[in-house]
Amino acid sequence: MKGYSEWMSRLIQALSKLPGIGRRSAERIVFHLLKAPGDEVTELARLLQMVKEKTLFCQICHNFSDESVCHICSDPGRDKGMICVVEDPKDVVAIEKTGNYVGVYHVLLGFLSAIEGVGPEELQIADLVERVKNGNVREVILATNPSTEGETTALYLTRILKPLKVKVTRLAHGISVGSMLEYTDQATLARALEGRVSA
Ligand SMILES: [Zn+2]
Repeated sequence: MKGYSEWMSRLIQALSKLPGIGRRSAERIVFHLLKAPGDEVTELARLLQMVKEKTLFCQICHNFSDESVCHICSDPGRDKGMICVVEDPKDVVAIEKTGNYVGVYHVLLGFLSAIEGVGPEELQIADLVERVKNGNVREVILATNPSTEGETTALYLTRILKPLKVKVTRLAHGISVGSMLEYTDQATLARALEGRVSA
C-alpha cells in the first residue's frame, strides 16, 4: 500500500474487512491508534482477544453470554413463562432496547432456508420445544424477521408449538416487510411487541 509501512498496510487491510468500515475509516483508525497512548491500544487489543475467547452461548437461550447461563436467563426478575423467539443475538439487543419486555428469549441462531439448505435441525428448535415442554411456559412470541425466511420459520414454529398447548403469538404488523428487527426503531418495535397477535 503506497505511503504506508508494512504493519500499517496490514492493519488497514484487516480493518477494512470489518462491517461498516471502509478503506478511509481503516486508515483513520490506524493513524489514531499510532497517536494514542500505548496502554489504550494494549487494552483495545486485549478486549478484541477476550471478547472472542470468553463469549459463549447461553445453555438455555443460546444468546451470547460470559457465563454458561446468560444474565437474562439467570435474572429472577424476568418472566420465565414468556419466551420471545428471535433469529439472532442482535435481535435480543433490539428488543431489550425497547425497555418493555420482561420475558426471556430463545435465539434460533439462524432461520429456515431451503435455498441455503438450513433445516430445523440446524437451528436451536429442538431445544425450544424442550423448554416449552418442561417449563411453565404460557406464551411463545415469534419475533423472527418479517422476511420470507423469517415468515417461513415462524409458520414452522407455530405448527410444532401449537400442539403443546402453549399460546403462540407473532409480532404485530408495523414492522415493514423485508425490514430487519435490528434496524427497526425502538418505538415501532415496542408497539409491535405490545400489539402482538395470535399466530
Ligand atoms: Zn440465556
